[in-house]
Amino acid sequence: MIDLVRGTKDLFGINLLKHKLIIKTAEQLAKKYNFQELQTPIIEKASLFTKALEQGTDVLDKEIYAFQDKGGEFLALRPEFTAPVMRHIINIGFNSNQPYKLFSYGPLFRYDRPQAGRQRQFSQLNFEIFGAKSIFYDAEIISLAKQILDELNIPNFKIAINYLGKTETKLKYQQILFKFFDTYKSDLSILSQTRLEKSPLRILDSKDEKDRKIILNAPTIEQVFDENDIKNFEELQNLLQVLKIDYFWDKHLVRGLSYYTGTIFEFLTDEIGAQSALLGGGRYDDLYANMGGKSINNQGLSAVGFAAGIERLSLVMHKNNFKKDLKIYILPLSEEENLESLLLATNLRKMTNFVIETLILNINLKKKLEIVAKCDGDYAIILGSEEIKSQNFSVRNMHTKETNKLSLDNIINISEF
Ligand code: AMP
Repeated sequence: MIDLVRGTKDLFGINLLKHKLIIKTAEQLAKKYNFQELQTPIIEKASLFTKALEQGTDVLDKEIYAFQDKGGEFLALRPEFTAPVMRHIINIGFNSNQPYKLFSYGPLFRYDRPQAGRQRQFSQLNFEIFGAKSIFYDAEIISLAKQILDELNIPNFKIAINYLGKTETKLKYQQILFKFFDTYKSDLSILSQTRLEKSPLRILDSKDEKDRKIILNAPTIEQVFDENDIKNFEELQNLLQVLKIDYFWDKHLVRGLSYYTGTIFEFLTDEIGAQSALLGGGRYDDLYANMGGKSINNQGLSAVGFAAGIERLSLVMHKNNFKKDLKIYILPLSEEENLESLLLATNLRKMTNFVIETLILNINLKKKLEIVAKCDGDYAIILGSEEIKSQNFSVRNMHTKETNKLSLDNIINISEF
């Protein structure tokens, strides 16, 4: 055995097919919603993430893979997409207040504790809309996220939403939370105690049982909403109802990354244990300015988006929902038919989308059929001199075990087992 790095995996077989289907589905929907694809480097300057993420965020404090390269420069493997995408927006001198939509996908790295659905190298789909102030875009992005999961036939997920309000609202809430948790300080877990000063909001995310009991009575954010926050959040809920999107308001929902203001949401499942978030996102209207973006028409640049974990989506995509291409084996009865097998395979590959494999092996038909069964072949075309002469082929359905004589046209039109 040659060990892999902890929390990393080779991707092959059905998992690779699922991974690719997830990306393909996302690409098709990205196009329909008018997103452009952006590919950013996997390595970035470490300072990019220090700028974008606050101290007190796990991703920055504990999980980032940062190192010094041979030239002494501090680099990081990207732990998330938003900071690099925002860097791109700032660098191209984006200066429009029209919606501009970017879609990315690829590997990310976090020094996390590996378990089902949690890896150190994992992949995300990432969608962001810039210059989109209206709450309609929050609804659009949630609707897009839901459509991706629906098209992947992912069952039984729930949509949790919350509203963090504008920056002042969030700050007020942080103060109230600080006061509340401070009275229970000695009962809190060590981790929550360390979060108390810098990021009391993150305590709401604690999985510790004792913390959870205290959190049940923690103040909720709507107490500090101003008129505008109330109006926006009500409008979002109306829009979700109009779009027939079921959701619940989790008044203690917070997100791991610190830059969110306004809407936040998570899509949750019970199917992969504690790691239950399939995707998460929200609005981060201050990030552009915080990262040094120049004002556009005297304003910042609003942004709303989400990221979905491809491995987690893959885990909850049911195998029977997953349609793979038909796999057909061509089995020459003897060496005499080898050349015809090759020609038939070449023709079928040109004319169909089937997976075609020829078994040119010095073994008898029974053994060849055993290989087809073992390799999940759907059909075996048995090629003897008779079949070549009549151009009527013996085709064995490996699922029903029936054999029928089929012409080339019939074979091309096989649609399922
Ligand atoms: P985040 O970037 O933390 O908001 O996470 C967005 C989504 O990425 C989560 O809902 C997960 O589906 C996925 N994700 C985050 N961290 C990991 C990880 N370590 N391993 C696998 N998937 C992850």
